[in-house]
Amino acid sequence: MFLASLRCTICAASYEPAPGRYVCGVCGDAGTLDARYDYAAVGGVLTPETLAADPERSMWRYRPLLPVESGAAVSALGVGWTPLIEAERLARRWGVGRLWIKDEGRQPTASLKDRASAVALARAAQEGAETVTTASTGNAAAALAGLAAGTGQNAVIFVPESAPEAKVAQLLAYGAFVMLVEGTYDDAFRLCQETVGRFGWYNRNTGINPYVGEGKKTAALEIAEQLGWEAPDAVFVSVGDGSIIGGVHKGFRDALALGWIDRMPRIYGVQAAGSSYLAEAWQKGEDVVTKPPVSAATAADSISADLPRDRVKAMAAVVETGGAWVVVEDEAILEMIPSVAADSGVFPEPAAAAAFAGLAEVAGGSQGGGAGVGESDRVVVISTGSGLKDIRGVMRGIDRIGAAPLPVRPGTDSLDPLEIYTRMEQWIGNLRKQT
Ligand SMILES: *Cc1c(COP(=O)(O)O)cnc(C)c1O
Ligand SMILES: [Zn+2]
Repeated sequence: MFLASLRCTICAASYEPAPGRYVCGVCGDAGTLDARYDYAAVGGVLTPETLAADPERSMWRYRPLLPVESGAAVSALGVGWTPLIEAERLARRWGVGRLWIKDEGRQPTASLKDRASAVALARAAQEGAETVTTASTGNAAAALAGLAAGTGQNAVIFVPESAPEAKVAQLLAYGAFVMLVEGTYDDAFRLCQETVGRFGWYNRNTGINPYVGEGKKTAALEIAEQLGWEAPDAVFVSVGDGSIIGGVHKGFRDALALGWIDRMPRIYGVQAAGSSYLAEAWQKGEDVVTKPPVSAATAADSISADLPRDRVKAMAAVVETGGAWVVVEDEAILEMIPSVAADSGVFPEPAAAAAFAGLAEVAGGSQGGGAGVGESDRVVVISTGSGLKDIRGVMRGIDRIGAAPLPVRPGTDSLDPLEIYTRMEQWIGNLRKQT
């Protein structure tokens, strides 16, 4: 293992990666720690050439860059190495040079969170903990439950009762012990944090566990490798707690430090208008260490957060790469689901659709204050979770664009060509008028 130390993202204090060490002893829960590696040693065993020759088609192909012992057992469910899909029609629609979608809906439990939970479970095993707990808006929990079912570890989950049914169904089917909290994600988070101290469970909570972002960074390493180690110009990421965007930043920084890419992409963080703590802080120049929580409400449940738990890393991702924070309305998010699905074949859940809505905003030039994107840019959108996670949200988007199936009687006389062609044209027109 090439993990060297853990460094506080606020005060830069350095810690041993010992069992029970989660956050900075001085800064408390805001002091999320960043895992530091011995890059010279990593570079001695892992290179673009060794990777090209490696048949491992999962996130574990980057194991020397992960905080897990080289021989340790890890999830066998095939986490990572999701496809990077070129979307030419969407690129034309938004006037960008080239556009790729990193489809994280194709993970074992259907969201990017599998990358984080896979690392947390491996760390828990390494530290001798049998039970792992997390609070979640739904996907981190489903990921922990599903991967723990695979390895035979125990998962205890705290989710808000508003979590979409499909996500709760996943938790129960995977055999996790579930506490449905009558409150928000932030309420669930506080309860879960309390149990860690009282019951001694391993803590996977976002922004607290220093290793979950390490798992998420493998999405960026894969993007760089799948593009032949030529960094994209811009990457769009939807943001709730800020852990994915922080992880994506870390992955590209690792690749840059190792000389695998020669520049960083601009990273764009996209938030829902009803949950825009980070975008607001950026616009007003506020300090995220002291800024009080907002009161979050959005149809994109996976990015609803009163106080983004990984806010320090998230802000650094945008500021240090010259990207921007973008705010999108729920209507635009929901309408984007069928519009992206029909023009690419990738099916995003509401939170994932937010990243596309953010790209549409920036490409349309309607949000100032940051760098735009245009015809010379190679752009990646991370589609963080599958539309099957939240069918109710998807149907709201479909209703909004005026799409509905044509009811037909079983007799063949109901196949009137004029009516059918008229309805088909209307249908296609509805999809195409989306921006
Ligand atoms: C968790 C999640 C996000 C946001 O990630 P954060 O780390 O909370 O910012 C976005 N989309 C989906 C589908 C998610 O599950
Ligand atoms: Zn600190």
